[in-house]
Amino acid sequence: MKIETKAVHSGERNEKRQYRPVATPIEQTAAYYFEDTKQIRDFYKGKLGGIKYGRYGCPTQHAVERKVADLENTKRALVFASGMSAFTSAILALTKKGDHVLFTDDCYRNIRQFFMELPDLGRESTEVPIDDLGNIESYMQGNSVLFFSELPTNPFLRVIDLEKVLGVTKRSGLVSVIDSTFATPINIRPIEYGADLVLHSATKYMGGHNDLFAGVVAGKKEHIDKIQQKRDLFGGIISPYDAYLLLRSLQTLPLRMKAYNEAGLEIARWLKKQSKVERVWYPGLKSHPDYKLAREYLNGFGGVITFSLKATEKQTSKFVDAMQIPYIATNFGGPQSLIEQHAVLTFYKDRANAEKRGITGNLIRYSTGFENIEDVFEDFNNAFRVLKR
Ligand code: PLP
Repeated sequence: MKIETKAVHSGERNEKRQYRPVATPIEQTAAYYFEDTKQIRDFYKGKLGGIKYGRYGCPTQHAVERKVADLENTKRALVFASGMSAFTSAILALTKKGDHVLFTDDCYRNIRQFFMELPDLGRESTEVPIDDLGNIESYMQGNSVLFFSELPTNPFLRVIDLEKVLGVTKRSGLVSVIDSTFATPINIRPIEYGADLVLHSATKYMGGHNDLFAGVVAGKKEHIDKIQQKRDLFGGIISPYDAYLLLRSLQTLPLRMKAYNEAGLEIARWLKKQSKVERVWYPGLKSHPDYKLAREYLNGFGGVITFSLKATEKQTSKFVDAMQIPYIATNFGGPQSLIEQHAVLTFYKDRANAEKRGITGNLIRYSTGFENIEDVFEDFNNAFRVLKR
């Protein structure tokens, strides 16, 4: 089956029901009852399917998990209450006290924060500059067990040479975890390139409507089983209602990603030509440092564009404030376009770190929505006028 067909049908049909709804229903219950004690014994012996308690899963959530596993072309997937819950559960499940992990330097602020705080949990971490990934072995230690990278990364949309890096990490016995929130399985399926696990903040493109929180991890059974134990224990479970919303959203993921890929490329090309734009980071532009890798690995480049203005921080704030169509908000992948002056909105309390990472006051992260592109260009043009005043 092709990915569009999987997106609509995988996980959904439940022939065991007496009535068969076309839309998989929400099963909004916390607990599940047994007819008698024999059923409990049969349940534990594995003779009877079923669910005991909602923190361990629910039917709507299981449908999402089957769909995500199919979309990622892998055996199993788990869904969580948020991307951070998926990420922290996975890292803690796959490492133990005394272990060391490697992660690439351009990444979501809270992901870096968690890695920096790993010593509190008895583990160590080392940040590897993306431009030095060719020397990844020199960052490894005797106790290295895991490699993590986003693909593309946040906010500079860097693309790593996945096959080459995974070749090295595999030889060294490291488990690889790739966060492809910015790509989704429509633009890349890292497991097909040898990654052990793929992770997403489903709050973004997968959820797709700026209205839910969710995270997913997919991959080999041996790893997923360990992560599931942590999810059961930490309790980062998605609600049945959010699982229902996510399931519905995933059906249209291929269509929505096609629209983002097209609009993202068109807007990035247009921004590059504007006299007040200093630089655009979009992997589909020849000027992006990883253009060749992006062409090799990605089916499309997504809807997020990072760009800097020839302007001061104050003027950049005025530009952002002058935009009428996008919301000033920090998410992406919904129908509404969003804009953020990254250093101010995301790094307000961490400015020193932002500057160190090239996240300057004139840097903007723009996430395309489904508005008419001519309206978007007109909105940008009006905002550029503010800079000329
Ligand atoms: N991974 C990436 C690449 C992200 O951008 C984010 C959030 O922005 C997360 C993980 C965390 O996901 P959530 O906000 O759903 O917890």
